[in-house]
Amino acid sequence: MTIVSSVCVFCGASNAIDKEFFDLGYQLGTKLAQEKFHMVYGAGDCGVMGASANGALEHGGTVTGIFPRVLEGLEAEHKTLTETIIVDDMHTRKMGMFDRSDAFIILPGGFGTMDETFEVITWKQLHTHDKPIILVNFKGYWDGWVKMTEHFIDNGFASQKTRTLYQVVDSVDEAIEALKAN
Ligand code: AMP
Repeated sequence: MTIVSSVCVFCGASNAIDKEFFDLGYQLGTKLAQEKFHMVYGAGDCGVMGASANGALEHGGTVTGIFPRVLEGLEAEHKTLTETIIVDDMHTRKMGMFDRSDAFIILPGGFGTMDETFEVITWKQLHTHDKPIILVNFKGYWDGWVKMTEHFIDNGFASQKTRTLYQVVDSVDEAIEALKAN
């Protein structure tokens, strides 16, 4: 049983996405705030990341962002977070997000989101932590990912137990329910 009070959100930074993805991020931030979960993320003011933070902040939530100096000029930094921590590099950012969180929720994203997600899954596989990891498979966005991980398992490169390291749900509401059930 993990007591979850602080939730890390991994999701995309791209703005070249359909509105429904921004709405999904905003919805997650809103629900986290309403359910009194603190949000932790990468401090971006762009894409699903920025929408999630804005959803939380506009509904009375608190948000910690961890921004790496190497992204200055590359990724827009959110300027009105509850707390912003500036770090030197991407690895320190990921460690900072990990240390401050009791659980991880993954929304649609790209390579950065996948990097962050695989890292917390592989750490859990090595028993470095036991924090819940929940992927929101919004409109089947992560179907390809699920298929790929099943391929790992079918070919013996990952054990059957790997499936227990993370949960795949269809909606933000289910993700919140999964958080509460952990
Ligand atoms: P993306 O899913 O590619 O839009 O990226 C989501 C977030 O992950 C952004 O804040 C990126 O800065 C971050 N990111 C991108 N590449 C990496 C990486 N190699 N390690 C950690 N975070 C990354």
